[in-house]
Amino acid sequence: MFKLIGICLISIACMAQNDSMIVQKIYRTALNNGKSYENLRSLCKDIGNRLSGSSAAKMAVEWAKIKMENCGLDSVYLEKVMVPHWERGTTERAWLRTNTGNLIPLHILALGGSVSTNGTLDAKVIQFNRLNDLKKANPSDVEGKIVFINEPMNESYISTLNAYGEAYPVRGSGASEAGKKGAIAVIIRSLGTSISDFPHTGTMHYEDSIRKIPAAAVSTKDAEIISQFINKQAINIVMELNCKWFDPVVSYNVIGELKGSKYPEKIITVGGHLDSWDTGEGAHDDGAGCMHALEALRILKVIGYTPLHTLRVVFFMNEENGNMGGKTYAEIAKKNNETHIAAIESDLGGFTPRGFSYSCNKKNEKFSQLFLQTLKPYQLHIFEKGEIGVDTRPLSDFFPDIELYSFIPDSQRYFDIHHNPNDVFENINKRELELGCAAVGSLLYFIDKNK
Ligand SMILES: [Zn+2]
Repeated sequence: MFKLIGICLISIACMAQNDSMIVQKIYRTALNNGKSYENLRSLCKDIGNRLSGSSAAKMAVEWAKIKMENCGLDSVYLEKVMVPHWERGTTERAWLRTNTGNLIPLHILALGGSVSTNGTLDAKVIQFNRLNDLKKANPSDVEGKIVFINEPMNESYISTLNAYGEAYPVRGSGASEAGKKGAIAVIIRSLGTSISDFPHTGTMHYEDSIRKIPAAAVSTKDAEIISQFINKQAINIVMELNCKWFDPVVSYNVIGELKGSKYPEKIITVGGHLDSWDTGEGAHDDGAGCMHALEALRILKVIGYTPLHTLRVVFFMNEENGNMGGKTYAEIAKKNNETHIAAIESDLGGFTPRGFSYSCNKKNEKFSQLFLQTLKPYQLHIFEKGEIGVDTRPLSDFFPDIELYSFIPDSQRYFDIHHNPNDVFENINKRELELGCAAVGSLLYFIDKNK
């Protein structure tokens, strides 16, 4: 009996030692011979931002296919996705006018999906400090005005993602709530954590039965200025947006695979989204996530690891304004009778890795402990149930037992650059990006080996 326990303990210790050696190899390859930083530079600088339906998104698909092919994966292919096509247009201008002769230009961005102003709007402004206050407002106070929602992100959360989740409805449904009360347009305070001149865009939705009114975000600094004036006197805002909707177009998810040696029919997906908002370069959101995913597979191949399951890297299309890539991927997986056991998504930026959140029905404690123990020297400390990514979530509709994981980097600077012109390659730190690749690669290895 004691002898048997002794043998078991020795074999567990050997397994842990083997895991440690492989994880060390993954980290060393990412830091010494990584390709993620140069690949991300090329994506950001040779292509730039790449909203679904744009020619830049089309070029990004071609680019991604070539990059995957160069990694020596077993197969690389495109998966057709119909995506919505909205364009910002060339005119975005707004200014504030006071009764006392002040004219102040505003930094403004149309929210993704907004209708145009159809010429120039010039109207009195009514301010609400919360979306909920607008919901309770008397329509006669709002009719014919531009609604300004000045709801800041809550600074008291440690993870800025919680604050973002809470403030999200301001951007998502502000236009419909203002439209219900008879407003002619809505302007929101950008969903950002710093006070800056840069407005943040992002998707918004119209309720079917409500009149569609133009929707835009002003920078947080401008939001403070508007608020200071409006608290003292009546103001007008003049604004023009000429954004436009077009017919849906054909685009693609880009997919690469390493075939499993023992369970080739069982698939583990790792991915990020290739599309980005049309400001900045989509460096953190989500060029970094795509690099994490591709580099994870490339590193496992470079270190000579033979996967047991089929490992599949997916660059999803259209996460930002429709999630058609994620939905289509799941639907086709189901249609093809595939077996999906796990998926990892990275879509929270390329900052210093902290760990992973997961959502699954099965008990995960033993796996969590083993992972955390092995990854402790690499300063990963979060491994807990929590939010999962937008692209991989549809898989759980068809594969109820699938384990979904989301990469968690440090979140403190993400909402300084999220969906705004600062999301550029210059704001990527090489080591932080490479550590993220190694963290995702390590989890991929652990899932492959232990599930
Ligand atoms: Zn994203």
